Amino acid sequence: MECPKCNAQMKEHSVRVLHGTVVIDQCNSCHGLWFDNGEAEELKSSWMSDFLDSGDPRIGKTYNRVRDIQCPRCSKAMLKVNDSRQPHLEYEACPEHGMFMDAGEFTDYKHETLMDIFKGLISTLKRR
Ligand SMILES: [Zn+2]
Ligand SMILES: [Zn+2]
Repeated sequence: MECPKCNAQMKEHSVRVLHGTVVIDQCNSCHGLWFDNGEAEELKSSWMSDFLDSGDPRIGKTYNRVRDIQCPRCSKAMLKVNDSRQPHLEYEACPEHGMFMDAGEFTDYKHETLMDIFKGLISTLKRR
């Protein structure tokens, strides 16, 4: 599969999760990650996925500006999504096939829960 952002080849990685194996694709060049529908959610809860997002977040940020991309599976224009729980997090999604995250974004996505707890804690402290 070709990377939708930089057209380099993507490499498949198998990750063991609680209920089997999930295969994700990572770009050899920009290290962006492609997740088929449902995979990111599944990987989010797996500690094994910590090593996955191995790209440099600074490089990921430069690719975050490339936003008019096509789904690597069906070549339709992908939607630009802002995560509802983390509005600073932007990624591209095809409703039928999956989503693409730049290097560093998945780590961000994964740590959402932790950040929520942290923010909740701060607002509790502020209320005192
Ligand atoms: Zn790429
Ligand atoms: Zn698609």
